Amino acid sequence: MSATPRTIAHFDLDAFFVSVECLLNPSLKGIPLLVGGHSERGVVAACSYEARKYGIHSAMPMKRALQLCPHATVVGNARGEYSKYSRIVTDIIAAKAPLFEKASIDEFYLDLSGMTRYFDPYQWTIELREQIMKATGLPISFAVASNKMVAKIATNEAKPNGYIHIPAGSEREYLAPLPVNKIPGVGEQTYQTMLQMGIRTIRDLSEHPAAELEHRFGKYGLDLYNKSRGIHEGEVVPYYEAKSISTENTFEENKTDVDFLMAELVRMTERVSYELRQDNKTAGCIAVKIRYPDFETTSRQTTIPYTFYDDELIAKAKELFHKLYRKGEPIRLLGVRLSELTGEAVQTNLFEDTSKKVQLYKAIDDVKNKYGKYSIVKAGGLEGDNDPGATWGGIEGGKSEQRQRTREERGPGGGSEPGGRGKEE
Ligand SMILES: [Mg+2]
Repeated sequence: MSATPRTIAHFDLDAFFVSVECLLNPSLKGIPLLVGGHSERGVVAACSYEARKYGIHSAMPMKRALQLCPHATVVGNARGEYSKYSRIVTDIIAAKAPLFEKASIDEFYLDLSGMTRYFDPYQWTIELREQIMKATGLPISFAVASNKMVAKIATNEAKPNGYIHIPAGSEREYLAPLPVNKIPGVGEQTYQTMLQMGIRTIRDLSEHPAAELEHRFGKYGLDLYNKSRGIHEGEVVPYYEAKSISTENTFEENKTDVDFLMAELVRMTERVSYELRQDNKTAGCIAVKIRYPDFETTSRQTTIPYTFYDDELIAKAKELFHKLYRKGEPIRLLGVRLSELTGEAVQTNLFEDTSKKVQLYKAIDDVKNKYGKYSIVKAGGLEGDNDPGATWGGIEGGKSEQRQRTREERGPGGGSEPGGRGKEE
Protein backbone atom coordinates (compact mmCIF):
# COMPACT_ATOMS: atom_id res chain seq x y z
CA MET A 1 0.00 0.00 0.00
CA SER A 2 2.58 2.51 1.04
CA ALA A 3 5.26 3.26 -1.55
CA THR A 4 7.57 5.19 0.75
CA PRO A 5 9.38 3.10 3.35
CA ARG A 6 7.94 3.37 6.82
CA THR A 7 9.68 3.53 10.16
CA ILE A 8 7.89 1.68 12.94
CA ALA A 9 9.07 1.24 16.52
CA HIS A 10 7.61 -1.51 18.68
CA PHE A 11 7.95 -1.18 22.46
CA ASP A 12 7.18 -3.99 24.88
CA LEU A 13 7.72 -3.97 28.64
CA ASP A 14 9.55 -7.10 29.76
CA ALA A 15 7.51 -9.56 31.84
CA PHE A 16 5.35 -6.59 32.77
CA PHE A 17 3.28 -7.90 35.73
CA VAL A 18 6.38 -9.59 37.14
CA SER A 19 8.46 -6.42 36.78
CA VAL A 20 5.84 -4.34 38.59
CA GLU A 21 5.64 -6.86 41.44
CA CYS A 22 9.46 -6.78 41.76
CA LEU A 23 9.48 -3.01 41.69
CA LEU A 24 7.07 -2.92 44.63
CA ASN A 25 8.85 -5.70 46.47
CA PRO A 26 12.53 -5.97 45.44
CA SER A 27 12.99 -9.18 47.45
CA LEU A 28 11.08 -10.94 44.65
CA LYS A 29 13.83 -10.16 42.12
CA GLY A 30 15.75 -13.03 40.57
CA ILE A 31 13.54 -15.86 41.82
CA PRO A 32 10.99 -18.05 40.01
CA LEU A 33 7.93 -15.82 40.33
CA LEU A 34 4.40 -16.52 39.17
CA VAL A 35 1.77 -13.81 38.88
CA GLY A 36 -1.76 -15.13 39.00
CA GLY A 37 -4.55 -16.65 41.04
CA HIS A 38 -3.80 -18.89 44.00
CA SER A 39 -7.11 -20.70 43.74
CA GLU A 40 -7.57 -24.26 42.58
CA ARG A 41 -8.41 -23.10 39.06
CA GLY A 42 -6.08 -20.10 38.89
CA VAL A 43 -3.99 -19.41 35.82
CA VAL A 44 -0.47 -17.99 35.37
CA ALA A 45 -0.97 -14.43 34.08
CA ALA A 46 2.79 -13.84 33.86
CA CYS A 47 5.99 -15.45 35.08
CA SER A 48 9.58 -14.36 35.61
CA TYR A 49 12.42 -15.42 33.32
CA GLU A 50 13.67 -17.63 36.18
CA ALA A 51 10.30 -19.46 36.19
CA ARG A 52 10.39 -19.88 32.41
CA LYS A 53 13.47 -22.06 32.79
CA TYR A 54 11.15 -24.68 34.30
CA GLY A 55 8.97 -24.71 31.20
CA ILE A 56 6.34 -22.47 32.72
CA HIS A 57 4.55 -19.99 30.47
CA SER A 58 1.63 -17.60 30.78
CA ALA A 59 -1.92 -18.98 30.51
CA MET A 60 -0.71 -22.25 32.06
CA PRO A 61 -2.87 -23.55 34.95
CA MET A 62 -1.27 -22.47 38.23
CA LYS A 63 -1.50 -26.02 39.53
CA ARG A 64 0.60 -27.32 36.64
CA ALA A 65 3.13 -24.49 37.04
CA LEU A 66 3.60 -25.36 40.70
CA GLN A 67 4.15 -28.99 39.77
CA LEU A 68 6.94 -27.90 37.42
CA CYS A 69 8.47 -25.57 39.99
CA PRO A 70 7.16 -26.26 43.53
CA HIS A 71 9.36 -23.60 45.14
CA ALA A 72 8.07 -20.79 42.91
CA THR A 73 6.55 -17.78 44.65
CA VAL A 74 3.01 -16.83 43.65
CA VAL A 75 1.95 -13.17 43.80
CA GLY A 76 -0.79 -11.06 42.34
CA ASN A 77 -1.67 -8.33 44.75
CA ALA A 78 -0.54 -5.30 42.77
CA ARG A 79 -3.42 -5.30 40.31
CA GLY A 80 -4.21 -1.63 40.59
CA GLU A 81 -0.54 -0.83 40.06
CA TYR A 82 -0.34 -2.47 36.63
CA SER A 83 -2.67 0.04 35.01
CA LYS A 84 -0.97 2.86 36.89
CA TYR A 85 2.42 1.99 35.38
CA SER A 86 0.87 1.31 32.00
CA ARG A 87 -0.61 4.79 32.11
CA ILE A 88 2.74 6.38 32.99
CA VAL A 89 4.36 4.70 29.96
CA THR A 90 1.41 5.63 27.73
CA ASP A 91 1.61 9.27 28.80
CA ILE A 92 5.35 9.48 28.09
CA ILE A 93 4.88 7.97 24.62
CA ALA A 94 1.84 10.14 23.90
CA ALA A 95 3.81 13.27 24.75
CA LYS A 96 6.61 12.43 22.31
CA ALA A 97 5.39 10.21 19.50
CA PRO A 98 3.56 11.72 16.53
CA LEU A 99 1.36 8.64 16.09
CA PHE A 100 1.12 5.57 18.26
CA GLU A 101 -0.99 2.52 18.93
CA LYS A 102 -1.44 0.88 22.32
CA ALA A 103 -1.65 -2.78 21.40
CA SER A 104 -2.05 -4.03 24.97
CA ILE A 105 -1.39 -2.97 28.54
CA ASP A 106 2.39 -3.13 27.96
CA GLU A 107 2.89 -2.95 24.21
CA PHE A 108 3.06 -0.01 21.81
CA TYR A 109 3.64 0.67 18.12
CA LEU A 110 4.96 4.07 17.09
CA ASP A 111 4.84 5.31 13.50
CA LEU A 112 7.93 7.48 13.09
CA SER A 113 7.81 7.67 9.29
CA GLY A 114 7.17 11.39 9.20
CA MET A 115 10.12 12.35 11.38
CA THR A 116 12.97 10.57 9.63
CA ARG A 117 13.93 13.74 7.80
CA TYR A 118 14.44 15.61 11.05
CA PHE A 119 15.76 12.99 13.49
CA ASP A 120 17.55 9.71 13.49
CA PRO A 121 14.57 7.59 14.57
CA TYR A 122 16.76 4.91 16.14
CA GLN A 123 18.60 7.39 18.35
CA TRP A 124 15.29 9.08 19.18
CA THR A 125 13.84 5.72 20.24
CA ILE A 126 16.85 4.86 22.39
CA GLU A 127 16.32 8.13 24.26
CA LEU A 128 12.60 7.45 24.64
CA ARG A 129 13.36 4.05 26.13
CA GLU A 130 15.76 5.62 28.63
CA GLN A 131 13.13 8.14 29.60
CA ILE A 132 10.54 5.41 30.19
CA MET A 133 12.93 3.34 32.31
CA LYS A 134 13.96 6.36 34.36
CA ALA A 135 10.35 7.33 35.06
CA THR A 136 9.08 3.84 35.89
CA GLY A 137 12.06 1.72 36.87
CA LEU A 138 10.68 -0.98 34.57
CA PRO A 139 12.69 -2.81 31.90
CA ILE A 140 11.42 -2.28 28.35
CA SER A 141 12.65 -3.55 24.98
CA PHE A 142 12.09 -2.19 21.50
CA ALA A 143 12.89 -2.65 17.85
CA VAL A 144 12.78 -0.24 14.94
CA ALA A 145 11.89 -1.69 11.54
CA SER A 146 9.99 -0.92 8.36
CA ASN A 147 6.75 -2.58 9.50
CA LYS A 148 4.88 -3.72 12.60
CA MET A 149 5.45 -7.44 12.16
CA VAL A 150 9.22 -7.27 11.76
CA ALA A 151 9.42 -4.79 14.64
CA LYS A 152 7.44 -7.10 16.94
CA ILE A 153 9.50 -10.16 16.10
CA ALA A 154 12.72 -8.20 16.58
CA THR A 155 11.59 -6.83 19.95
CA ASN A 156 10.99 -10.37 21.16
CA GLU A 157 14.50 -11.28 20.02
CA ALA A 158 15.97 -8.24 21.76
CA LYS A 159 14.40 -9.18 25.11
CA PRO A 160 15.05 -8.93 27.95
CA ASN A 161 15.93 -5.30 28.32
CA GLY A 162 17.42 -4.77 24.87
CA TYR A 163 16.86 -3.04 21.56
CA ILE A 164 17.65 -3.47 17.92
CA HIS A 165 17.33 -1.75 14.54
CA ILE A 166 16.44 -3.72 11.42
CA PRO A 167 17.36 -1.45 8.48
CA ALA A 168 14.96 -1.32 5.54
CA GLY A 169 15.96 -3.90 2.96
CA SER A 170 17.42 -6.37 5.45
CA GLU A 171 14.11 -7.71 6.83
CA ARG A 172 14.12 -10.99 4.96
CA GLU A 173 17.73 -11.72 5.80
CA TYR A 174 17.10 -10.92 9.47
CA LEU A 175 14.05 -13.17 9.77
CA ALA A 176 15.47 -16.11 7.75
CA PRO A 177 17.26 -18.09 10.50
CA LEU A 178 14.48 -17.72 13.12
CA PRO A 179 12.11 -20.62 13.88
CA VAL A 180 8.88 -20.21 11.95
CA ASN A 181 6.76 -20.00 15.11
CA LYS A 182 8.37 -16.64 15.89
CA ILE A 183 5.93 -15.15 13.39
CA PRO A 184 3.08 -13.68 15.46
CA GLY A 185 -0.06 -15.73 15.00
CA VAL A 186 1.66 -19.03 14.20
CA GLY A 187 0.17 -21.19 16.93
CA GLU A 188 1.15 -24.65 18.04
CA GLN A 189 -1.11 -26.39 15.52
CA THR A 190 0.13 -24.45 12.49
CA TYR A 191 3.68 -24.91 13.72
CA GLN A 192 3.31 -28.70 13.95
CA THR A 193 1.79 -28.84 10.47
CA MET A 194 4.69 -26.81 9.11
CA LEU A 195 7.25 -29.07 10.77
CA GLN A 196 5.56 -32.00 9.04
CA MET A 197 5.91 -30.09 5.75
CA GLY A 198 9.65 -29.68 6.42
CA ILE A 199 9.30 -26.00 7.28
CA ARG A 200 11.36 -25.24 10.35
CA THR A 201 12.75 -21.74 9.86
CA ILE A 202 11.31 -18.59 8.37
CA ARG A 203 13.74 -19.11 5.49
CA ASP A 204 12.18 -22.54 4.81
CA LEU A 205 8.79 -20.85 4.69
CA SER A 206 9.95 -18.10 2.34
CA GLU A 207 11.41 -20.68 -0.05
CA HIS A 208 8.31 -22.85 -0.03
CA PRO A 209 6.04 -22.59 -3.10
CA ALA A 210 3.34 -20.03 -2.32
CA ALA A 211 0.71 -22.09 -4.14
CA GLU A 212 1.30 -25.04 -1.85
CA LEU A 213 1.01 -22.87 1.23
CA GLU A 214 -2.25 -21.49 -0.08
CA HIS A 215 -3.48 -24.98 -0.79
CA ARG A 216 -2.60 -26.10 2.75
CA PHE A 217 -3.60 -23.02 4.79
CA GLY A 218 -5.92 -21.07 2.46
CA LYS A 219 -5.60 -17.30 2.35
CA TYR A 220 -3.64 -17.44 5.60
CA GLY A 221 -0.95 -19.40 3.75
CA LEU A 222 -0.30 -16.48 1.38
CA ASP A 223 -0.27 -14.13 4.32
CA LEU A 224 2.37 -16.30 6.00
CA TYR A 225 4.38 -16.43 2.78
CA ASN A 226 4.48 -12.62 2.63
CA LYS A 227 5.38 -12.41 6.27
CA SER A 228 8.27 -14.83 5.82
CA ARG A 229 9.67 -12.38 3.25
CA GLY A 230 9.36 -9.51 5.73
CA ILE A 231 6.30 -8.02 4.04
CA HIS A 232 3.49 -6.66 6.21
CA GLU A 233 1.21 -3.72 5.47
CA GLY A 234 -0.59 -3.34 8.84
CA GLU A 235 -1.03 0.28 9.86
CA VAL A 236 -0.40 1.79 13.27
CA VAL A 237 -3.91 2.39 14.61
CA PRO A 238 -4.05 5.66 16.57
CA TYR A 239 -4.62 5.17 20.27
CA TYR A 240 -8.02 6.11 21.56
CA GLU A 241 -9.01 5.46 25.12
CA ALA A 242 -12.64 5.52 26.13
CA LYS A 243 -12.74 7.46 29.37
CA SER A 244 -16.35 6.75 30.13
CA ILE A 245 -19.45 4.99 28.87
CA SER A 246 -22.78 6.56 29.58
CA THR A 247 -26.39 6.49 28.63
CA GLU A 248 -29.21 8.78 29.59
CA ASN A 249 -32.88 8.98 28.99
CA THR A 250 -35.13 12.00 28.70
CA PHE A 251 -38.68 10.94 29.40
CA GLU A 252 -41.47 12.27 27.22
CA GLU A 253 -43.44 12.94 30.39
CA ASN A 254 -41.86 13.67 33.74
CA LYS A 255 -41.85 10.62 35.98
CA THR A 256 -42.50 10.17 39.69
CA ASP A 257 -43.24 6.44 39.72
CA VAL A 258 -40.29 4.97 41.60
CA ASP A 259 -40.93 1.46 40.28
CA PHE A 260 -40.74 2.76 36.75
CA LEU A 261 -37.60 4.77 37.50
CA MET A 262 -35.97 1.73 39.10
CA ALA A 263 -36.78 -0.40 36.07
CA GLU A 264 -35.27 2.27 33.81
CA LEU A 265 -32.18 2.52 35.99
CA VAL A 266 -31.67 -1.25 35.82
CA ARG A 267 -32.17 -1.29 32.06
CA MET A 268 -29.71 1.55 31.51
CA THR A 269 -27.10 0.03 33.81
CA GLU A 270 -27.41 -3.23 31.92
CA ARG A 271 -26.78 -1.30 28.71
CA VAL A 272 -23.58 0.35 29.85
CA SER A 273 -22.19 -2.75 31.54
CA TYR A 274 -22.89 -4.78 28.40
CA GLU A 275 -20.96 -2.19 26.39
CA LEU A 276 -18.16 -2.32 28.93
CA ARG A 277 -17.80 -6.08 28.47
CA GLN A 278 -17.85 -5.68 24.69
CA ASP A 279 -14.85 -3.37 25.08
CA ASN A 280 -13.08 -5.83 27.38
CA LYS A 281 -13.02 -3.21 30.08
CA THR A 282 -13.96 -2.93 33.71
CA ALA A 283 -15.13 0.21 35.50
CA GLY A 284 -13.84 1.61 38.76
CA CYS A 285 -16.43 4.33 39.13
CA ILE A 286 -20.18 4.64 38.58
CA ALA A 287 -22.36 7.75 38.52
CA VAL A 288 -26.10 8.40 38.41
CA LYS A 289 -27.61 11.62 37.14
CA ILE A 290 -31.05 13.08 37.68
CA ARG A 291 -32.52 16.13 35.98
CA TYR A 292 -35.67 17.71 37.34
CA PRO A 293 -38.29 19.49 35.21
CA ASP A 294 -36.74 22.90 35.90
CA PHE A 295 -33.48 21.54 34.40
CA GLU A 296 -31.74 21.43 37.73
CA THR A 297 -29.28 18.57 37.26
CA THR A 298 -27.62 16.61 40.03
CA SER A 299 -25.32 13.66 39.87
CA ARG A 300 -23.45 11.53 42.29
CA GLN A 301 -20.64 9.06 41.81
CA THR A 302 -18.81 6.45 43.80
CA THR A 303 -15.65 4.46 43.28
CA ILE A 304 -16.09 0.69 43.24
CA PRO A 305 -13.86 -2.38 42.99
CA TYR A 306 -13.21 -2.85 39.26
CA THR A 307 -16.06 -4.83 37.72
CA PHE A 308 -18.10 -5.40 34.56
CA TYR A 309 -20.91 -7.37 36.17
CA ASP A 310 -24.52 -6.17 35.91
CA ASP A 311 -25.49 -7.27 39.40
CA GLU A 312 -22.67 -5.38 41.12
CA LEU A 313 -23.19 -2.25 39.03
CA ILE A 314 -26.98 -2.27 39.39
CA ALA A 315 -26.72 -2.49 43.19
CA LYS A 316 -24.42 0.55 43.19
CA ALA A 317 -26.63 2.47 40.75
CA LYS A 318 -29.68 1.92 42.97
CA GLU A 319 -27.76 3.02 46.04
CA LEU A 320 -26.66 6.21 44.31
CA PHE A 321 -30.17 6.88 43.04
CA HIS A 322 -31.67 6.68 46.51
CA LYS A 323 -29.02 9.00 47.92
CA LEU A 324 -29.58 11.49 45.12
CA TYR A 325 -33.32 11.47 44.50
CA ARG A 326 -35.56 13.99 46.24
CA LYS A 327 -38.53 11.78 46.97
CA GLY A 328 -41.78 12.57 45.25
CA GLU A 329 -40.33 15.04 42.78
CA PRO A 330 -40.90 14.40 39.10
CA ILE A 331 -37.84 13.47 37.04
CA ARG A 332 -37.19 14.67 33.52
CA LEU A 333 -34.00 12.78 32.79
CA LEU A 334 -32.13 9.83 34.24
CA GLY A 335 -28.55 8.85 33.39
CA VAL A 336 -25.92 6.26 34.28
CA ARG A 337 -22.23 6.58 33.59
CA LEU A 338 -19.26 4.28 34.09
CA SER A 339 -15.75 5.69 34.25
CA GLU A 340 -12.22 4.84 35.44
CA LEU A 341 -12.26 2.27 32.66
CA THR A 342 -9.39 -0.15 32.39
CA GLY A 343 -8.60 -3.22 30.38
CA GLU A 344 -6.05 -4.34 32.91
CA ALA A 345 -8.57 -5.72 35.39
CA VAL A 346 -10.04 -7.92 32.68
CA GLN A 347 -6.63 -9.35 31.87
CA THR A 348 -6.09 -10.00 35.54
CA ASN A 349 -9.54 -11.57 35.81
CA LEU A 350 -7.52 -14.65 35.10
CA PHE A 351 -6.59 -14.33 38.73
CA GLU A 352 -9.99 -15.19 40.05
CA ASP A 353 -12.05 -18.25 39.77
CA THR A 354 -14.86 -16.33 38.17
CA SER A 355 -15.15 -18.47 35.10
CA LYS A 356 -18.74 -19.53 35.81
CA LYS A 357 -19.91 -15.96 36.08
CA VAL A 358 -17.90 -14.94 33.02
CA GLN A 359 -19.51 -17.76 31.05
CA LEU A 360 -22.97 -16.68 32.15
CA TYR A 361 -22.40 -13.10 31.04
CA LYS A 362 -20.86 -14.24 27.79
CA ALA A 363 -24.01 -16.22 27.05
CA ILE A 364 -26.20 -13.21 27.82
CA ASP A 365 -24.06 -10.94 25.66
CA ASP A 366 -24.11 -13.38 22.75
CA VAL A 367 -27.88 -13.06 22.72
CA LYS A 368 -27.67 -9.29 22.92
CA ASN A 369 -25.17 -9.24 20.05
CA LYS A 370 -27.56 -11.26 17.97
CA TYR A 371 -30.45 -8.89 18.47
CA GLY A 372 -28.63 -5.62 17.97
CA LYS A 373 -26.63 -3.31 20.17
CA TYR A 374 -28.06 -0.71 22.44
CA SER A 375 -27.43 2.91 21.74
CA ILE A 376 -24.58 3.94 23.96
CA VAL A 377 -22.45 7.00 24.28
CA LYS A 378 -18.74 6.54 24.68
CA ALA A 379 -16.65 9.49 25.68
CA GLY A 380 -13.07 9.59 24.69
CA GLY A 381 -9.82 11.23 25.58
CA LEU A 382 -8.69 12.45 22.19
CA GLU A 383 -7.72 16.05 21.77
CA GLY A 384 -10.66 18.12 20.63
CA ASP A 385 -13.18 15.67 21.95
CA ASN A 386 -13.87 17.75 24.96
CA ASP A 387 -17.40 18.99 24.60
CA PRO A 388 -17.86 22.08 26.75
CA GLY A 389 -21.56 21.30 26.88
CA ALA A 390 -20.94 17.99 28.57
CA THR A 391 -23.77 17.44 30.95
CA TRP A 392 -21.85 15.27 33.40
CA GLY A 393 -19.60 18.18 34.32
CA GLY A 394 -20.65 19.02 37.86
CA ILE A 395 -20.35 15.68 39.54
CA GLU A 396 -20.13 15.90 43.29
CA GLY A 397 -16.81 14.70 44.55
CA GLY A 398 -15.75 13.83 41.05
CA LYS A 399 -12.38 14.21 39.48
CA SER A 400 -12.17 17.47 37.67
CA GLU A 401 -10.57 16.70 34.33
CA GLN A 402 -12.87 13.97 33.04
CA ARG A 403 -13.51 14.62 29.40
CA GLN A 404 -16.69 13.33 27.94
CA ARG A 405 -19.49 13.80 25.57
CA THR A 406 -22.95 12.70 26.39
CA ARG A 407 -26.03 12.79 24.35
CA GLU A 408 -29.57 12.41 25.42
CA GLU A 409 -31.39 9.43 24.17
CA ARG A 410 -35.06 9.66 23.29
CA GLY A 411 -36.89 7.74 25.91
CA PRO A 412 -39.42 4.99 25.76
CA GLY A 413 -42.15 7.42 26.76
CA GLY A 414 -44.91 5.33 28.21
CA GLY A 415 -42.44 2.97 29.83
CA SER A 416 -42.57 0.18 27.29
CA GLU A 417 -39.53 -2.08 27.23
CA PRO A 418 -37.23 -0.72 24.56
CA GLY A 419 -34.54 -3.34 24.94
CA GLY A 420 -34.66 -4.74 21.42
CA ARG A 421 -35.12 -1.53 19.54
CA GLY A 422 -31.70 0.00 19.99
CA LYS A 423 -29.67 0.74 16.92
CA GLU A 424 -26.04 0.48 16.04
CA GLU A 425 -23.88 3.42 16.83
MG1 LIG B 1 5.44 -7.47 27.57
